[in-house]
Amino acid sequence: MDGPSRPPDRGAERLALANGDRLPSSEERTASRFHQLKSGRALTGVYLKSTDNRPDENCWWCDPENDSGTHQMRDHLFKHCYKLKDQQAAMWARAKEVTKKRKQKWRVGDLLVDERCSPAVLDFLRSTHVGRAAPPVKETGTVTMKRRRG
Ligand SMILES: [Zn+2]
Repeated sequence: MDGPSRPPDRGAERLALANGDRLPSSEERTASRFHQLKSGRALTGVYLKSTDNRPDENCWWCDPENDSGTHQMRDHLFKHCYKLKDQQAAMWARAKEVTKKRKQKWRVGDLLVDERCSPAVLDFLRSTHVGRAAPPVKETGTVTMKRRRG
């Protein structure tokens, strides 16, 4: 139905010009998030916990306040996170259109490597913050990220 359309740039591109490097275009950054998700190194809660960058694996969209224990892994982001349900629905509808395979039948890892689904996955990433930098960790008294200087 809809042809391929480029979403408008959000303006974040203006950041970080100070270091003089050419900024990656938003398309390049989307492609890099896609690649990181495929390789399991996307900035999900589970990955960030494993690299000691967050105190827990919880999804920061589902439970920013109460600790409901929803582990933010790829499966959660692509299938279950209620904050992303509209974008998920659009993506799975397109995946089903090209593969005749329903959401329930997919493992997310398989979806990510199926090239027929790549346009839908890329649009999903463009329309969400999946795999982007996480919000700052709140001081909860458990793990803090203070840097020791000197
Ligand atoms: Zn969630």
